[in-house]
Amino acid sequence: MNRIAARAWVVAILSGILLGGFIFFVVEFMQKSSQWVLSENSPFVDNNQQLSEEQRTLDYGTVVDRDSRILVKLDEGRVYSQDADIRKTSIHWIGGRDGNISAPLLAAFKKEMLAYNTLTGTYSYGDSSPVTRLTLSSKVQKVALEAMGNYKGTVAVYNYQTGELLCSVTTPTFDPDNVPADLETNPSTDDAYYNKFIQYHYTPGSIFKIVTLAAAMEELDDLDSMEFSCAGSYTMGVDKITCTGTHGKQNIQEAFRNSCNCAFAQLSEVLGTHTLAKYVEQFGITKAITFDGITTAEGRFDTDASAVNVAWSAIGQFNDEINPCAFLTFVGAIARGGQGLSPYVMDRISVGDNVTYRGSAELNTRIMTPRTAQRLQEFMRSNVADKYGDWNFPGLKVCAKTGTGEVGGNKKPNAMLTGFVADAQYPLAFIVCVEDAGFGQSVCVPIASKVLASCKEVMDS
Ligand SMILES: [Zn+2]
Repeated sequence: MNRIAARAWVVAILSGILLGGFIFFVVEFMQKSSQWVLSENSPFVDNNQQLSEEQRTLDYGTVVDRDSRILVKLDEGRVYSQDADIRKTSIHWIGGRDGNISAPLLAAFKKEMLAYNTLTGTYSYGDSSPVTRLTLSSKVQKVALEAMGNYKGTVAVYNYQTGELLCSVTTPTFDPDNVPADLETNPSTDDAYYNKFIQYHYTPGSIFKIVTLAAAMEELDDLDSMEFSCAGSYTMGVDKITCTGTHGKQNIQEAFRNSCNCAFAQLSEVLGTHTLAKYVEQFGITKAITFDGITTAEGRFDTDASAVNVAWSAIGQFNDEINPCAFLTFVGAIARGGQGLSPYVMDRISVGDNVTYRGSAELNTRIMTPRTAQRLQEFMRSNVADKYGDWNFPGLKVCAKTGTGEVGGNKKPNAMLTGFVADAQYPLAFIVCVEDAGFGQSVCVPIASKVLASCKEVMDS
């Protein structure tokens, strides 16, 4: 009896170990199998050793634009579009061959592209290869590239009612199928690897006056009755704020349309550093934005500064820095009544008939009252109607603000323009940043004019 009892115990223990091991395996398999499939040495994943872990994409499937134009076939070492301009305008989003461009977008969606199913295995959708659709329009992208000409910078347009990024072009760029040997050493292309919409920050110049104006509208009950004087310069202690003109007596709307530095210096004194900084924070001006596995650069607004430097900060100079994507999101919030949407670029991933991912925008918290947003819209509308000229934007009710960001050194200023179309049919917000260029109005308005016209055409078709 003792021998039988001992054997029963041994069997029970062995069975227990077997069962425990089996449970452990099942749990591990359920939790980690998708990671194993997507791991470094998986045959499904691009194992180009030059790429960082974050950049390794699936090595099969096709990436297309919003109109199904092929951007890249990931099979067999990346086969890019036949069109050189499409190659040049999309590499900052889909990456090059050698990993020099930090383009985490496709790698962030490996799992959805593979459509891995834990229970049935990878091939649950048969032989279908994933089709990854971005929100970008190659048609608009090409127009933006041409409009930028030899200028360096970035142009972006997004639909502020859906969050879809229609256009985001960075220059200089290069053709991944024909990379110049001197790309990295030639001063005209040595910054070609950057997606400036995401990775750069710029001295904003007067587009920042939208921020100061919005803070004043939220904070000051008597803003409309305030009078601002400009004699060409404004004295602050031993320092002086200079203006681009002599604007005389102005109300706030005139001061904004004149982009009067003296008036905005006076406004900065009334508001004070602390209040200005509070609204910069509330409006998300300097915060990084995260979407689709991408995180933008942060901006900068220094609070530890003398009164005259705070005045320059309120004007968009001094140490101010804005990231184009974050600022575009801020402007989109104004267009949308004070509560905006984050942009997104990954539209849809489908494998055969199965949609494994569908992009959508995230609703951000309200950053200003609907009334402030409405008034900013009126002021920005007046800039275009009464100053820049509606003839630049046929058929579009554009609201905007220009900027000229002084960067010092031997460089010409950053020319900046941002705004939106106040029309339910074309809910487009845009930003144009051009480096070493000159005045925002003369440089950026013609670029925005062409790009918005192209967006309108695409939306009408
Ligand atoms: Zn002035």
